[in-house]
Amino acid sequence: MTIGFGFIGASDIAKHKMLAAIRNTPDCEVVSVYSSNLERGRAYAAETQIPHAASSLEDLLANPAVHAVYISTTNELHHAQTLAAAQAGKHVLCEKPLAMSQLEAQTMLDACREAGVVLATNHHLRNAHAHQAMRDLIANGAIGKPIAARVFHAVYLRESLQGWRLDKPEAGGGVVLDIVVHDVDTLRFVLQAEPTEVISLSQQFGMSAGSVEDGSMAVFRFDNGVIAQVHTAFTVPYAGNGFEVHGTDGSLIAKNVMHPAAQPEVLLRTANSEQRLELAANEVYSLGVARFIAAIQGTGKPAASGEDGLWSLASALACLESAHTGQKVAISV
Ligand code: NDP
Repeated sequence: MTIGFGFIGASDIAKHKMLAAIRNTPDCEVVSVYSSNLERGRAYAAETQIPHAASSLEDLLANPAVHAVYISTTNELHHAQTLAAAQAGKHVLCEKPLAMSQLEAQTMLDACREAGVVLATNHHLRNAHAHQAMRDLIANGAIGKPIAARVFHAVYLRESLQGWRLDKPEAGGGVVLDIVVHDVDTLRFVLQAEPTEVISLSQQFGMSAGSVEDGSMAVFRFDNGVIAQVHTAFTVPYAGNGFEVHGTDGSLIAKNVMHPAAQPEVLLRTANSEQRLELAANEVYSLGVARFIAAIQGTGKPAASGEDGLWSLASALACLESAHTGQKVAISV
């Protein structure tokens, strides 16, 4: 059976990444899009060749051709829209951060479980070959016992995205909810460990407004003893990006692995050798869609589950709390 997707949110990410990811995946298609502004929704549908623009969320969810929804509205809307979709019996692929609070996210997990629908979080980076290779090497002991990690993920927010992320805390703006969630998810995935506490500082360097931060440095502790330093920003044009894990017997040093389109470079350095891994960049969003479809069809699990989204949200919220209070904050789910 072909899985019909309804887009909730006429967003940039849906247009520029997820539409192609769904269209490139067998057994699925996008059948409708809902925007809170019907005229914009119609224009978006016409531009993207989505066959139908729904006049309301209820209209989209009542459509029998919609089996699953992809939610990419601003962050404060994910919770209510997921509950509505679950109640209508639709599977949910939701953007990060899952919600604005842990309680909301937990309610989303509960509602989807009770409705018997799949809930997945669109944490795309764990689908990258580079992160999967690093996870496997660490699990197989290639660097010994992991001691520490460093994530470099400071970017310059492109002008077309310089909207709600910068001045709307009520919509979940700020670099921590935007990027730190991905970094924590990737650390959890690569280290196969859970974060237990965080201490952080945040920054306003002229791009964000009000109480919204545009830069953050945080240190997370994981339950395997690893401490991980995470730098994120919207304001840094030339930093590049990287992900490092240092262990008792070796180090994994990766560059260009926090942006899906970049050519990844991963180096494994041990006492006697330096080995460059041969890795091609891969289509991380398509892989996420394929895993979501497999979960719906009962043949697999989502790449990142609702619970993974809950963990990354809890970690980001703790990071924000630490920046506000100046205290270390415990993370628990
Ligand atoms: P956008 O700003 O493009 O879209 C968010 C909402 O803003 C849309 O649902 C839309 O509302 C409204 N909107 C968009 N464009 C216009 C416009 N021209 N005029 C008026 N309203 C507009 O957000 P993003 O695509 O950047 O992000 C959406 C979600 O996806 C967020 O949760 C974000 O965190 C996540 N995201 C995830 C990424 C990933 O790699 N996993 C990458 C980027 C974003 P309506 O639908 O009602 O029209």
